[in-house]
Amino acid sequence: MLSEPFTQAQARPELPYTDLAHLPPGVSLPRRIDRLRELAYNFWWSWNDPAQRLFSALDLELWNAVRHNPVKLLRQVRRKQINAVTHDKRYLEIYDRVMADFDGYINPAATWFSTAHLDFTSAPGSIAYFSTEFGLHESLPIYAGGLGMLSGDHSKGASDLGLPFVGVGFLYEQGYFRQRISEDGWQEALYDRTDLADLPVLLVREPAGKALLIPVEIAGRTVFVRVWKAQVGRIPVYLMDSNLEQNSPADRELTGRLYSSDADVRVSQEIVLGIGGVRLLRALRLEPQVWHMNEGHSAFLVLERLREKVAAGESLESAQASVCASTVFTTHTPVPAGNETFPIWLMDKYFSGYWDALGLDRDRFIDLARLDQSWGPAFSMPILALRNSGHRNAVSELHGEVSRKMWQFLWPDVPAEDVPIGSITNGVHAATWLARRMKSLFTHYLGPNWPEALDDPALWEKVRDIPDEELWEVRRHLKRKMLAFFRDRAREMWMRHVHPVQVLAAGALLDNNALTIGFARRFATYKRAGLLLRDSDRLMRLVHRPGQPVQFVFAGKAHPADEPGKLLIQQLYRNIKRAEWGGRLVFIEDYDASIARFMVQGVDVWLNTPRRPQEASGTSGQKAAINGVLNLSVLDGWWREGYNGENGWAIGEEIDYDNPDQQDAHDAEALYSLLENEVVPLYYDRDRDSGDVPLQWLRKIKESIRSLAPAFSARRMVKEYTELMYAPVVNGNGGRSNNHR
Ligand SMILES: *Cc1c(COP(=O)(O)O)cnc(C)c1O
Repeated sequence: MLSEPFTQAQARPELPYTDLAHLPPGVSLPRRIDRLRELAYNFWWSWNDPAQRLFSALDLELWNAVRHNPVKLLRQVRRKQINAVTHDKRYLEIYDRVMADFDGYINPAATWFSTAHLDFTSAPGSIAYFSTEFGLHESLPIYAGGLGMLSGDHSKGASDLGLPFVGVGFLYEQGYFRQRISEDGWQEALYDRTDLADLPVLLVREPAGKALLIPVEIAGRTVFVRVWKAQVGRIPVYLMDSNLEQNSPADRELTGRLYSSDADVRVSQEIVLGIGGVRLLRALRLEPQVWHMNEGHSAFLVLERLREKVAAGESLESAQASVCASTVFTTHTPVPAGNETFPIWLMDKYFSGYWDALGLDRDRFIDLARLDQSWGPAFSMPILALRNSGHRNAVSELHGEVSRKMWQFLWPDVPAEDVPIGSITNGVHAATWLARRMKSLFTHYLGPNWPEALDDPALWEKVRDIPDEELWEVRRHLKRKMLAFFRDRAREMWMRHVHPVQVLAAGALLDNNALTIGFARRFATYKRAGLLLRDSDRLMRLVHRPGQPVQFVFAGKAHPADEPGKLLIQQLYRNIKRAEWGGRLVFIEDYDASIARFMVQGVDVWLNTPRRPQEASGTSGQKAAINGVLNLSVLDGWWREGYNGENGWAIGEEIDYDNPDQQDAHDAEALYSLLENEVVPLYYDRDRDSGDVPLQWLRKIKESIRSLAPAFSARRMVKEYTELMYAPVVNGNGGRSNNHR
């Protein structure tokens, strides 16, 4: 058996370890390229284009069929194809270069972290990051939306910067659902049962070779979880899964899917994440100094750490002080209703007994997270998190303001502006989201070191040096590539005998030369996917402007239990099917990270219309911006900080409305008039002398990249977390937890 070079196993064989899974007999790799297997189990390949090419070149059709999953590819690819590449000089050259780059990345001489003088121990796992979702890549569908993509980009950023970081989450065996839209526009949810041996994750084993099992008590019974490791560059993300013979059939399903709407399942999942997660890190002999809860779902980890300390003889007060000092909490929810609470009877069912271990009675236990509502008290996960973390942040400046007001009642003696919740605005992992051709442009005009200087505004001044024709050619290429992909999917639907109207609604008539506007995100009602369609006649005139056509691409899922969200998709889809649109409004099924990449790279304009101030940050517009796509968005979340008057468009003003209908009417009017008077004319204002290039449009694109790329990068974000949240924990000062941006 081949073993992985950077497990703990070789150095300290008494610890849990992972090994590379066996490929099925007959699919063993020739020695010359056998490190492909190692590469397949490290998501590093996914943000390095030449590494991707090593897999896609084996069998492009299979590569697409397996959702870009290199492990599944290696298990299925035909021997003939493997043998072919071992004789291909060009392939072997790329292979050698990729493996050298990989080794250089994994074992660097220095990293930002190692040279930043943060006075911080670098023992592995010093920073533990808990999240219900990790959006690392479409081949591991354990994310639903923005929260997961953020965890994924945060982990990749932590790896790039060399942080001693470890992620903790779930391996959902059925993943998030795959979306189909029925002829009548109804969202259907399909769940795949994955063969776990196909996933790019490795089982964590005990020194003796058996699977490492973590016991978690849930309502008086013991549930076991096993642990999988997803390697993300230099850092591991540990994922728990309860599908074991030892468990009852119901418990085996516990970690099957994301976000159940069944309260018993939800609380049980969160017990596994918070309490099981702490035990998992203990079993791995990791000793985190910083415990970062990404959203409140993992807040039970606070209880488990208190229990450990009390069991070791500490007083509860002293345990609370030290847990608080070492805990970081990031909140993502700007609306009170979005915050998770559990009814008291449910807490009784799952935690009676647990409070004794903390030396608390029932009432004092509930008080740890008590939220009084008009219909009685409840146990609030964000309150548990806020009260027990010494370092708290929201995910944009505006979200910080909203959060301080929203939670001010927890600090009754403090005015809202002094409530100790700061903000660190989200950013995106550029190497993951940038198109290959954009990366080449940056390498050429910004210099080969641009990935390490990504968060330095001075670097991005050089974007102005990119010749207009070259930038325009790349933009046109990326749009053609996206549209060809959509049309291929439409063709496949036609060949599956899907109704022809659905084939048109899927993009069969999309036009390579039309101004293309994208709207893709979760279908939650506050995101107002229907705003654009409030005045169909006006939109119709815009879409069919003579010589200046405009097309709109929609995509996104509604949570399977979100009826209003599903109705929104249905209304939109029924409208899209109208012949009068001429096929220029389309809905792309099954939005995921792969479709997100096509869209944020391929459209001309990224549209976002949340009902302000309900978008905590948003990140998809940041992904679009670095690819030269212009943002057209409400001044909410990150865009309120990003918009500078020249780098895109702001829909509406910074007004706090009392009346949502009035707000929608104003914002729709602002959106139409921007499209009619600014966006469309600017796009079609071409310079005949220089090959039909829209010079003013390109000027805006350059200003957008210049101003947004450094500020909204994961590199900037993770550095801020390190300096403002993690280092203060380790250095034992209170940190600057308020208004520090
Ligand atoms: C980036 C991303 C999101 C987050 O999008 P926002 O609308 O900006 O919150 C959601 N889903 C996927 C697949 C993404 O890639």
